[in-house]
Amino acid sequence: MSEHVKKTFATEPPNQDYLRAIPMGGLNEVGMNCCILECNGSMILIDCGLTFPESSGFGVDVIFPDLSYVLDNLDILDAVILTHGHEDHIGALPFFLREVDVPVYGGSLTLAMLRKKLEEQTLNLDEVTLHEVDPGDRLQIESFVVEFVHVNHSIPNAMAVAIETPLGRVLFTGDWKLDHTPVEEEPTDLQRLAEFGQEGLLALFGDSTNSGSKGYSTSEADVKRGLANVLENATGRVIVAQFSSNLHRVQGLLELAAEFDRVVALQGRSMMSNFGIARALGFIKVPKDVTLIDVKQINDFPDDELLLLSTGSQAEPRAALTRIAYGAHRISLKSTDTVVLSARVIPGNEVGIHNMINQMTKRGARVITQRDAPIHTTGHAKQEELKLMINLTSPEYLVPVHGSYAMRRQHADIGEALGVEHTLVIEDGDVLEFTENDAKVVDRVHVGRIFVDGRHSGNGDIEDIQLRDRRKLAHSGLLVAHAVLDLNTGHLTSPPELLQRGVLSHNVDELLEEASLYASKAVENLSSELRSNPGEVTETIRVALRRFFNRRIDKKPVVVPIVHTL
Ligand SMILES: [Zn+2]
Repeated sequence: MSEHVKKTFATEPPNQDYLRAIPMGGLNEVGMNCCILECNGSMILIDCGLTFPESSGFGVDVIFPDLSYVLDNLDILDAVILTHGHEDHIGALPFFLREVDVPVYGGSLTLAMLRKKLEEQTLNLDEVTLHEVDPGDRLQIESFVVEFVHVNHSIPNAMAVAIETPLGRVLFTGDWKLDHTPVEEEPTDLQRLAEFGQEGLLALFGDSTNSGSKGYSTSEADVKRGLANVLENATGRVIVAQFSSNLHRVQGLLELAAEFDRVVALQGRSMMSNFGIARALGFIKVPKDVTLIDVKQINDFPDDELLLLSTGSQAEPRAALTRIAYGAHRISLKSTDTVVLSARVIPGNEVGIHNMINQMTKRGARVITQRDAPIHTTGHAKQEELKLMINLTSPEYLVPVHGSYAMRRQHADIGEALGVEHTLVIEDGDVLEFTENDAKVVDRVHVGRIFVDGRHSGNGDIEDIQLRDRRKLAHSGLLVAHAVLDLNTGHLTSPPELLQRGVLSHNVDELLEEASLYASKAVENLSSELRSNPGEVTETIRVALRRFFNRRIDKKPVVVPIVHTL
């Protein structure tokens, strides 16, 4: 996998003013956004995000950009600048800050979300320098003057970053969209963006996520209207599942709870935590006449007076909403319930979500998705918004970022059609150098992905996946569990067959048999509905086997469960 030659240093900088942009992630993948900006011997990092594996396996929870190039040049690193609080923009930072002492600049909500992550990773907050900034703030960092510009996105407190350099000004949009009628915030600061255009913009590093989508993104106000319609017609409980960081959505729903006389219960760890943070900072305002109740109290209220805001929109195994759907939760669904999935489907989760909807519908609940009603919108600019950004800022160079090659190519095509003279579709690791006369890729630095497990364990072990797996395999061995799930009977046809390499050296047959029965029992302990979900069964087998060997022989082998269905 890492057969390629690892190269650390970019070529020597030219003997004149120069500016270099080196994306370390976020190109050729969705997520893991991180870009270096280097100017006359000073370096800043814009965002430091993570991404998630496309399918679960081998216990890998998250993926970080390999920042060895930055680590090798720490003497010139002066700041990390954050655009907003999404995981794919701040998620790798707690691990980076474990090794690196560098000031971090970001909005109050962004930093509060970062602080929570730092605490989860047991970092000493006193040793981390966080500087709060507001839209409109300008700060000098060595050769850079960094300015923050308010933009709309699916999380409050999102900001674009304009950076003045001796070579000219460059603009990183961050994740953004245009919303003329946002909920509880201002529209994107078009006026300031237009001023950049008038004053001359060297380069626009623009979000390409939705470059393939025609038209304009739907406003959050329209989503609120769509949700109002649902509440107006609902005769029983309403459960809205969404991403916990979409706090505009939460705000809109709180206002609707006031309008439709419903008490509000929050469900899900991240929902409660983000709500608390945003409320404390004033990004969420609970209307006076809305009562917040604990989810345990919901049976004390009439069904048509309840609104439950929940996580679990992606049918994550073991999430509360999934459990509710499969009848394995204290909240049991009724025929009068309405469940709204107010979120997009993340690729890879389609089957799980389909199964979850199926289970809910079986229980008589009405399930409303984005396909049925305008109850969700994207946080990213679509084609007409991208055009507006390009026209307003009229950049000399357009550098599409955030997204696959196809998305970035399409963004570049849009720019070319609007008359942008230079579009640069570059790759992670490319050293894009601006000088007085031109801009071109002059070199490449090492980039890569670091796979991390034990995300919530507080001691994220960071290693290359190959090394990590080798170490794990060497230390704890490999266990393959093969099981057949009969969907007609809802049972495994027999306890899983186990094959081990390097886990056990004595009592092998005995322990494998015991482990197999243990895993089988864990599956049997699931409700019959959960047992009909192969994803849930697979995960249950994996967790059970790891637990079994951890208890019996103090080892957590790499477990590969394979579940076939009949
Ligand atoms: Zn975002």
